[in-house]
Amino acid sequence: MEHNNFDIVEVPRRCAGCGRDADSSGMREVGWAIPVASTGDAQAYCLGCASVLRFLPWLAECAGCGREVDDETEAEEKGWRFFRNGDRELMPMCADCAELEVRRREIAQ
Ligand SMILES: [Zn+2]
Ligand SMILES: [Zn+2]
Repeated sequence: MEHNNFDIVEVPRRCAGCGRDADSSGMREVGWAIPVASTGDAQAYCLGCASVLRFLPWLAECAGCGREVDDETEAEEKGWRFFRNGDRELMPMCADCAELEVRRREIAQ
């Protein structure tokens, strides 16, 4: 059984794109991106810059356990699903949580 805690990693001091610190750029709260795999750039960027610079064309965070996936194909392969959360936006869920959610909704009907 895997623990769902995030790895303990140090929050970057500031975004390499906009230069804001971890608090004002939201990195402390929502995370950041290091595009080393796609561009070889190992600096940290806040998610705002990351999406502007297209390091993160896609990112989903599981509404159940907080697990993240940043590749749509990978998400599909791993069985991630998107639930409509009332009238609001889609709520991504990893395969494990999706299974629970489906069961929960079946019971609720
Ligand atoms: Zn930034
Ligand atoms: Zn999950």
